[in-house]
Formats: sequence, structure tokens, C-alpha cells
Amino acid sequence: MLVNLKEILKIAEADKTAIGMFNATGFDSLQAVVGAAEELNQPVIIAHAEVHNVYNDISMVGPAMVAVAKNAKVPVCVHLDHGTSLDMVYKALRLGFTSVMMDASALPYEENLRLTKMIVEAAHAMDVSVEAELGRLVTGEAGSGENHAEMKAEDFYTDPQEAEAFCKETGIDALAIAFGTAHGFYTAQPKLDFDVVKNVAKATGLPLVMHGGSGVSEEGFKKSIANGIRKINYYSYMSKAGYTAAKTVIESGKTNYLHDVEYAAMQAMKEDVKKAIKVFSNK
Ligand SMILES: [Zn+2]
Repeated sequence: MLVNLKEILKIAEADKTAIGMFNATGFDSLQAVVGAAEELNQPVIIAHAEVHNVYNDISMVGPAMVAVAKNAKVPVCVHLDHGTSLDMVYKALRLGFTSVMMDASALPYEENLRLTKMIVEAAHAMDVSVEAELGRLVTGEAGSGENHAEMKAEDFYTDPQEAEAFCKETGIDALAIAFGTAHGFYTAQPKLDFDVVKNVAKATGLPLVMHGGSGVSEEGFKKSIANGIRKINYYSYMSKAGYTAAKTVIESGKTNYLHDVEYAAMQAMKEDVKKAIKVFSNK
């Protein structure tokens, strides 16, 4: 069942849980994520990140995502993750995505505001939800092991007053915040500032989004959810689970078929996604 982000996050708000967003970079991950959600009978968000467009172009993977969501037994939102170019955001809207993230967080505040507002107007007219980001996460979506030790993450945490004004002015449906998580793989356990979550949730009254969910402890997830996180973006560890399973099959020497490798990767990703959904949904 295809739903938009606003609708799916209402379920999370009512249950005081969070919905997992998983990047479906191709058919293996698409099957893994929706299969996991159906097995657990839980809603899920499948996403195409603009940085993953080199692996599978949105014009090919997008229609498949929408079709899979429509046929799913559970509510599924089809989301554009980190849309940084207007071109990609409009492509997602045309393809029937039910949610887009306009990520202009690297731009000055006024520019972020202007672009986000413009996309909200277009998206809402099509019943599509919009996520935006305020504050900065210290790595890019594809980043793994980048060293930003010279930057102090706290300097980029989302400010509650600024968030309140931004949400009011733009009319967005969900806000991605910076409170200590990072994209990619963590080299040390992240320190999360739950007061930032609590204060931004109170100031905006909106569902909040955690990016960089891979590697956060179960306790970290639970506390984040208790303070107002309603969407959790999770990808790196799922991808790693698929990678490890693929490597095992290849090294076993038992097959020369790529489909055996892909199938093993899909199953391993499905198990990893199930674990994540269970934590996020309190099941
Ligand atoms: Zn992200």
C-alpha cells in the first residue's frame, strides 16, 4: 500500500515508535526491505538517495519502487533521500514518489528556506510530503571512515528556535536534525544529545528524523524515539550485511552464478533490516 511520509509518520506518532527508512539501491535491497517489513507486518520507508543514482538511475529503479510499494501488504512510503538538486527532486515527483527530502542544509539558511519552501508548494499540490534538514551532519551520505576530527559536531547541532521558524515558514512535514549521529560507519560509539531532540520536537511539533542510524546502540535508538525521533535512516550496516554474505558465497567457490551471490546478499540484508525494524517498532 503506497502512502506518503505524513501518513506513515502518523502511525509512528500514535504508537510512539519510529519508522525505518532503508535505501533501496537496487532490486536486491528493494526485495530485502519490503520483504522484511511484510514478514513483520510493519510499515516501512524505501528510499533512493541522489548519491546512489550512479548505481541505479532513478528513471529505472523509481518505477520499480513505486510498483513494489503499491503491491505491498503493509504501508510503504517511497522517498527521495538527500535530494540536493532540483532536477532530481522534480524527477522523483514525476515518477510518483510520495515523499522527497530537499536537502539544502549545506547552503546558507536563507537559501535553504527559499528552496525548501518552493519544493513544499510543488510537492503538497501533488499530495507528496517533504523532509528538510537543519544543522549539519559531519559526513556525506556515501561517506565511510571520513575523518572530520577537526570539526566539532556540536557546532552544527540543530537550533530549536531556528527550527521552529524554519518549519513554520516552509510548511515541511518532517525535519532531519543534527544531534550527534553521522553518515557511514562509526569509528567510535556516537554520543547523542537527547536534549536537542526533545527541544526541537517541542519547538516544532513535527516528527523528527535521525540520519546515520547504522551503529547507534539499541538504547540510543530507544531514547531518541522517546524524545521525538519518528523516522530513522538506516543503510550502512544493512549494506555491510549484504556485502559479507556475498563475500562468503564467492569465497566458498560453490557457484559461478551471480544470482546466487545476489540472493545471499538479499537474504542477509533482509535479516539485518528485520532486526532494525524490531528495535524501531518496539516489537
Ligand atoms: Zn542522511
